[in-house]
Amino acid sequence: MTEKLFHDRPHTILDAEQAEAQLETFTQQRQGGGNQVYIVPVVFHVIHNFGEENISDEQIHSAMESVNIDFRKLNEDIDDVIEAFAGITADVEVEFRLAQLDPQGNCTNGITRTVSDLTYVGDSDMKELIQWPREKYLNVWVCAYAQGAAGYSLYPSSVNSFFNEDQDGIVLKHDYCGYIGTSNWSRRRTFPHEIGHWLNLRHCWGNSNEPNIDENCDEDDLVDDTPWTRGWQSCALYGESCGTLDNVQNYMEYSGCGRMFTEGQKDRMRAALESSTAQRNQLWQESNLEATGVLTGESILCEASFSVSKDVVCMGQEMQFFDNSYNAPSSWTWDFGDGTELSGNDPEIFKNPIHTYEVPGDYSITLVVSNGTDELAVTQEQFVTVLGSGELDSPLVEGFEAGFPDDEWFLYNTEGAGWEVTNTASFTGDYSLKLDNYSNDIEWLEDQFFSRTFDFSEVDEALITFKWAYASKTMEATSDRLRVYISADCGESWILKEQLSGSVDMPTSEYSSSPFTPSSTSEWASASVSITNPAQLTET
Ligand SMILES: [Zn+2]
Repeated sequence: MTEKLFHDRPHTILDAEQAEAQLETFTQQRQGGGNQVYIVPVVFHVIHNFGEENISDEQIHSAMESVNIDFRKLNEDIDDVIEAFAGITADVEVEFRLAQLDPQGNCTNGITRTVSDLTYVGDSDMKELIQWPREKYLNVWVCAYAQGAAGYSLYPSSVNSFFNEDQDGIVLKHDYCGYIGTSNWSRRRTFPHEIGHWLNLRHCWGNSNEPNIDENCDEDDLVDDTPWTRGWQSCALYGESCGTLDNVQNYMEYSGCGRMFTEGQKDRMRAALESSTAQRNQLWQESNLEATGVLTGESILCEASFSVSKDVVCMGQEMQFFDNSYNAPSSWTWDFGDGTELSGNDPEIFKNPIHTYEVPGDYSITLVVSNGTDELAVTQEQFVTVLGSGELDSPLVEGFEAGFPDDEWFLYNTEGAGWEVTNTASFTGDYSLKLDNYSNDIEWLEDQFFSRTFDFSEVDEALITFKWAYASKTMEATSDRLRVYISADCGESWILKEQLSGSVDMPTSEYSSSPFTPSSTSEWASASVSITNPAQLTET
């Protein structure tokens, strides 16, 4: 990454060389230093395109928890360090805390989310999407692709220049961040490794990304107590690659079994934090800890918020509520709007509760969260719709003349333009539903609308008849589909009853190179879907 940076920005090479020399002198001349625990504010920027790289807050919390354990030598597997190195394992005395105040002083959970397909690139352009001031926060970007690596970071000297400030921080591939969600237990050590680089540590084998080559026996990592090594890509505990025993269990190896920093590495990292190179020495100043909301370590309650698994359900159907409040509420009071209240401080029960409504209607939900000191409340009016097993007036006719969506019809859109009521075309009356798919270039997006439930228990056959108008925007084959589904279990599962294809049986008009609006009733078609013995559906 360093080569790429200086290839793209050759005018910053000189500054980097001078900064490296200065920081090296500072590091070598540093005497002991105190044992103050340096606290570093951290912000995570999740760069995503709605894929699995959009990792949860909890996964990020697991990364923070784990890296703090490792940097304070509280990891249980420190006991497995082989005897030769057990005496030089280090408590680095650095602690990382998620920011609770953003650069403007507003409350934050220390996690930002930005939608961009640069998540698949993971390069300097991605970092330029968002960065908080590097003299106040350690910036960590999480993405789908990290330039072919599990993660990467630049040395303080490489980004010291004003021109390279925007590249300062750590990039983590999402499945190497923390130990839950898309990552796993062994991959959690990518983060301490990258922080090592961010604090001026080289790999144990020297200043390259290439382990296991002979030349590395002549390459220094500039740390006195780490032995010379070719570098390892396997966990050879008693390996002697350059004639002496190697420190294979070091975080700065590629061995996959890293679990320690040495005292020498600790000194080097603390020197980087005490140096003005890349403004590292401003991060842990008390004034900055105050400005970023991490001084006391107590959580600041910023915002009460919640979401729900499904906002249209049937009577008697379970639904789950999710508390999204931050930061770290310790008790929850839910008012489900149907006279039921749930209150308590056991997160297992009260943070993401399941509730069932027994009466149809629209319900407003209120959540009150507290951290023991402060309390915040949020209400969402008519947030949940509970459907009854409604009577069916036969025939039921819907022309969307009275608005959409409403008590009878509901909308579910994934993204972009969706179903909407329009008066630009209709078969009868003034209105119809339209889906503007003309300017959409992404294939297989789904736009759905669905009706309320009906009681078919006394019905032998139900007939659904609908009219549509459609023109393809191309003469080529198109993936456009219109599908009609029915559900006998309130939308838990769906049965496909009809499919019209944009290249075969859906067009009602010639292809149109401009957005299509039917101009007469002759450009509409009609189809019927028969459901025989609908009452039986509930039993299959
Ligand atoms: Zn590395």
